Amino acid sequence: MIRVGVNGYGVIGRRVADAVSAQQDMKLIGVTKVKPDYKARMALEKKYPLYAATESSVKDFAKNSMEVSGTIEDLLKQVDVIVDASPDDVGAKNKEKYVETVGRAIFQGGESPGVAEVSFVAQCNFEKARGAKFIRVVSCNTTALCRALHTIDENFGIERARAVIARRGADPDETSKGPIDAVVLDPAEIPSHHAGDVNTVLPDIKLVSMALKVPTTHMHLHTLIASLRDRSVTENQVIDAFEEATRIMVIEGHSGFKSTAQVIDLAREMGRPRNDLYEAVIWKDSIRIVEGEVHFYMGVHQEAIVVPENVDAIRAIIGKESGKSSISSTNSSLGILK
Ligand code: NAD
Repeated sequence: MIRVGVNGYGVIGRRVADAVSAQQDMKLIGVTKVKPDYKARMALEKKYPLYAATESSVKDFAKNSMEVSGTIEDLLKQVDVIVDASPDDVGAKNKEKYVETVGRAIFQGGESPGVAEVSFVAQCNFEKARGAKFIRVVSCNTTALCRALHTIDENFGIERARAVIARRGADPDETSKGPIDAVVLDPAEIPSHHAGDVNTVLPDIKLVSMALKVPTTHMHLHTLIASLRDRSVTENQVIDAFEEATRIMVIEGHSGFKSTAQVIDLAREMGRPRNDLYEAVIWKDSIRIVEGEVHFYMGVHQEAIVVPENVDAIRAIIGKESGKSSISSTNSSLGILK
């Protein structure tokens, strides 16, 4: 059993903890919380051993009659891998603790690439990450872009690509960031950081990305255009490639998927926990080839898409299993159909 700890129990950390618990080859040793709030209480109800993320918060848990098993330092002594799911740029500050103790950690996309040896998307570069000590699972948008562009590039070759990303204004429980009543250039400069981030995983893809924030909490929506090396490719071949690729779900607008709201509704109907969609979602009817360029829309459930990548990153760090085998175990444990 791979002994795993999760440091930071917010949007991503809670989902990663549940996903780790669902793996047959992993044991969740504990999670950390800064504050003794309802999320901490729910962790205890799930029988997840709870640790204080900081020494100073130990007394706050005691005051609220919540039993902690120790601090992050105690958790680090017991694990083979720590998954850092703390806020943007906090992971890099936590790294020193990991270097001195467990020596193997996974960071999230809010950290700079330099925090780890490898930036990771399982179906793109698992083998490169195998045996690394520090892996960065890239952001939700970068994960989706890598899955889609890698699929096209492997099958048909990409000359260059462009992406316009409509980003959700905030996560559903992030009341401090929303609501916004505007379309916010995020940033005004082109390209946005996403293109460079894709290159940390897929260095050869020529991509220009642009990003806007819009008033929604459900999902991001990407508009993608890729110039193909093979000019004879048909739309059906592109559809087949996406349908075969792992962690890409192909949906049809004329079946009722008029917006991201229906996509999230599908996840509810599928009985996914927290209506999580781990797949990048591509609208089949949007796939059009015009003069050798493929165009399509892709939805990204920001809260969920990186969860399977974190599970695979744990196996990559341990280094015993192949990418194919890890992806298959993760998919079946999370109900990802292919
Ligand atoms: P979050 O704010 O929901 O959760 C972070 C948690 O870490 C909070 O519970 C916070 O109290 C805790 N924390 C604060 N300081 C800490 C410390 N020093 N040590 C340990 N924990 C600490 O954030 P999130 O949305 O889960 O984001 C976590 C990481 O995942 C970020 O790098 C983010 O960029 C990335 N990410 C977020 C999303 C998303 O849509 N929310 C998607 C993909 C990747």
